[in-house]
Amino acid sequence: MIFNGEIKEVIDGHLHIDGCYEDDGADFLNGFDEYIEKGPFRAVCIAALPSGKKGAANRDPSNNIMAAFCKIANPKVYAFGGLTYRNYPQDPDALGDMALDVQYKELMDIGFDGIKMLEGKPNLYRYVGNRLDSDMFDGFFAEAEKNGTHILMHACDPIEFWTEEYATPEYIAKGWSYVSDEYPKKEEIYAQVENILKKHPRLSLTLAHFYFMADDLCRLGALFDKYENLGVDITPGGEMYVSFEKNRDKTRDFFNKYSDRIMLGTDGSFPKCMRAMEWLADRTYRYITTNDTFMGFEDKYQTGLLLERDAQEKILSKNFIRRVSDSPKPINKAALKKYIEKYKHLIRDEKALALVEKYSEQLLK
Ligand SMILES: [Zn+2]
Repeated sequence: MIFNGEIKEVIDGHLHIDGCYEDDGADFLNGFDEYIEKGPFRAVCIAALPSGKKGAANRDPSNNIMAAFCKIANPKVYAFGGLTYRNYPQDPDALGDMALDVQYKELMDIGFDGIKMLEGKPNLYRYVGNRLDSDMFDGFFAEAEKNGTHILMHACDPIEFWTEEYATPEYIAKGWSYVSDEYPKKEEIYAQVENILKKHPRLSLTLAHFYFMADDLCRLGALFDKYENLGVDITPGGEMYVSFEKNRDKTRDFFNKYSDRIMLGTDGSFPKCMRAMEWLADRTYRYITTNDTFMGFEDKYQTGLLLERDAQEKILSKNFIRRVSDSPKPINKAALKKYIEKYKHLIRDEKALALVEKYSEQLLK
């Protein structure tokens, strides 16, 4: 049993189905059941990643579809859908009936609980090839702001990824090195995100991984003071926790002060070993709810913040409920069928397409 503490209602707001949809005979459909049963989870949320260029991950519309299937199969699963693209780079004029505000409406009609964006991660940013504050995204942000739709956005990455020291063949192969001029600089992405907020100040936006600002809490606090619906999640990035530990008292004060802006997430994914998921969940939970000293991220000891009880409850589930909804939205099967018909030609992997067809038969009758 993970989460052996007092708070018995937890939502892991940041999980993925990634890599592939089958793992030693088990498939994704109930891929998080074991995890949910191991802790006092009120619910979990899958952030779909339907955009990307290559690699093992099926980063195409199948990722939205599989997340929707998971919602049908399990009432404890929320899912954030993602925008998808015809080409990389994407010429905005060539989107046609896939304009991003149209996609947003389709995803909401299906019954997604919010939107996930990975477009601010420098490697995907480079593929998509459009500024985050450009007209291509603007209609979508305007609608999301108007409707109070929650957006979970990955923007930037740890600053180390822009240094020569990290530009090793291994990191370059993983797509984790941004020293080349083809990538935006960290501050350029920050500026674009702030332009989005200036234009849409009420946007319900949660920036993943503490917005990679764990080492500059004053700057993040100033953004929170300016934008009332802005938040972050504590999904590791181990480097975040190393920064927190360096200024533990200041970090605790920050977490207590802005406890209505911070949400739990782990980045656990299917398929992955349960042990890793349990470890991630245990470390993030204990960090919020205890003052235990334990071996934490990046092989360093860390000491939990033992936040005020009210702050613990908000971070572990109440903020998610307030910003997203009380329970996962039901899937509108007709809308999902329509989406599958429209987008299945963009599914690149034959196995994924076969699974979409199999579960359409089973679940969408
Ligand atoms: Zn993630």
